[in-house]
Amino acid sequence: MKDGTPATPRPSFVKRLKSKITQVDWMMMFPVLAAIAWLYGEEAVAMVLVAVLPAMIALDAGGRSRARAAAHLNIGAASGRPIHRRALQQVVDDVVEECQSQDRTMAVMQVQVDDLHIADGEWGATINDTAMERLIQRVSVVLRGPDIVLRSGDDCLMVALAPTRRADLDVVMNIVDRIQAAISEPLKLEGRTMRVHSCIGICTLAMAPAPTGAALLAAADCALRIARRQGDDSVRAFNPDIQAQVEIDHRLASQIDQALEAGHLRPWFQPQIDGRTGAIVGFEALARWHHPDLGVLSPAQFLGTVTSSGRSAEMGEAILKASLEALRTWDRAGIDVPSVGINLSLEELTDPRLAERIIWEVDRYDLAPERVAVEILETVTLRDGDETIMRNLTTLRNEGFRLDLDDFGTGAASIAHIARFGVHRIKIDRSFISGLDKDEGQRKVVSAILSLAKQLDIDTLAEGVETPEEQDMLGRMGCPHLQGFGIARPMPLEETIDWALRRSGQAADGLRDMHPQGNA
Ligand code: C2E
Ligand code: CA
Ligand code: CA
Repeated sequence: MKDGTPATPRPSFVKRLKSKITQVDWMMMFPVLAAIAWLYGEEAVAMVLVAVLPAMIALDAGGRSRARAAAHLNIGAASGRPIHRRALQQVVDDVVEECQSQDRTMAVMQVQVDDLHIADGEWGATINDTAMERLIQRVSVVLRGPDIVLRSGDDCLMVALAPTRRADLDVVMNIVDRIQAAISEPLKLEGRTMRVHSCIGICTLAMAPAPTGAALLAAADCALRIARRQGDDSVRAFNPDIQAQVEIDHRLASQIDQALEAGHLRPWFQPQIDGRTGAIVGFEALARWHHPDLGVLSPAQFLGTVTSSGRSAEMGEAILKASLEALRTWDRAGIDVPSVGINLSLEELTDPRLAERIIWEVDRYDLAPERVAVEILETVTLRDGDETIMRNLTTLRNEGFRLDLDDFGTGAASIAHIARFGVHRIKIDRSFISGLDKDEGQRKVVSAILSLAKQLDIDTLAEGVETPEEQDMLGRMGCPHLQGFGIARPMPLEETIDWALRRSGQAADGLRDMHPQGNA
């Protein structure tokens, strides 16, 4: 990627000379020059080179970084609390100005620290401040002295690189690696150890839409937003496409309420089958936004916006109602669908009234609770210290709802955790299923999961089954339930009926082929 700041005018000769002289690498030459001066009997010159000049330069550089540090302290870094946005912009503005006068460049990074909220739930809120302070110290250690690290949000910190010759993506990614490594080191607080992840959004001066603190920070925020969608430890650099995506996010955020009211947020359904008999064992409800202008949007395009707008509960309710309606529709059409799976996010699970709301809704539709499988992510089982989540899940399970453990294998749930949660079925993540017919290592892992589940008397479902070869292999390995594009893609409710009828027709044809006289 091209570096440099096209909008920056070339600085004057004097400024350039000054900036050359104040570079630290000149100082490395002083001992050599001093030795030469000493050899030629110029002791006074040697003294100047060894002591006076370095001290003056250090004072100058120190003065600049101290000035910046003082500015930071005034704006609240010392309090450990997040710093006001306007002040952050001012700090970045100062660095940009320095870059422009020295023909240098720089970069801004917004670093989102994830999983600190887990600590929040278990250890109390003040621990967040201590954890962030520690992380800021760690990050400072892996950067150069004049670089700036400040807390830009509750779980967010900003890094502004001091003026430098190169700040292209190669250079910045190197720094990002160091920052992420520093953050991911185990964090010991109050006698407990935790590991946190970080997502990073980058904007270099060359990438920024304008050479200002406001523009650089906004662009790094955009990049961070997209990085966060990709999950743990993702990093994204700003580009105009990212800006367009973020603009769509903003547009969607302003339309959520209207979409919920108009019924535009509703599920598509993906079948789950019994690999041995071919029978339908259920459908998973997968949220879709039927947007009047943008078409059908997938969760990756809107889930983050729904969550950050605080509308998870409303969306969950819309999906639940539509799923219960779907069960009734299948019943009326005479299609045997034992259960529908609904995905519950962490936000929904931390609502103390979640279980009662689901129970009430299912009762209102006059459906048996065992016809609803609630899908929780493996990472949720690590929150077993959270009373609200545990109460919601226990209530639902005791009431007769089924519990599916989603994306199994991607988190860090132990056998003990799974057993404690009373899970009915493990959904083995797609990453283990994809290509397992060709990879013995993968087969071994899936085999181990299957036998573990059998020992615990838990059902299993393979997610993301795409090819007949995978399906065949899973059948031979004894995985009872299958879901994936190879069986069918998610589809609108109307299409599920045709799909199911076609399927039972094929099954009937198959039976007729096997017993032709029976159909005479
Ligand atoms: P998930 O719960 O793991 O859902 C399975 C995802 O894998 C779905 O993506 C599905 O379309 C996709 N998939 C299924 N079979 C295959 C396959 O064979 N190959 C490939 N490549 N993909 C396959 P989708 O619909 O985009 O949903 C993505 C995620 O969004 C879901 O992952 C789930 O975590 C979340 N989500 C979807 N609907 C809801 C909802 O109503 N509420 C909440 N909280 N989350 C939802
Ligand atoms: Ca799921
Ligand atoms: Ca899944």
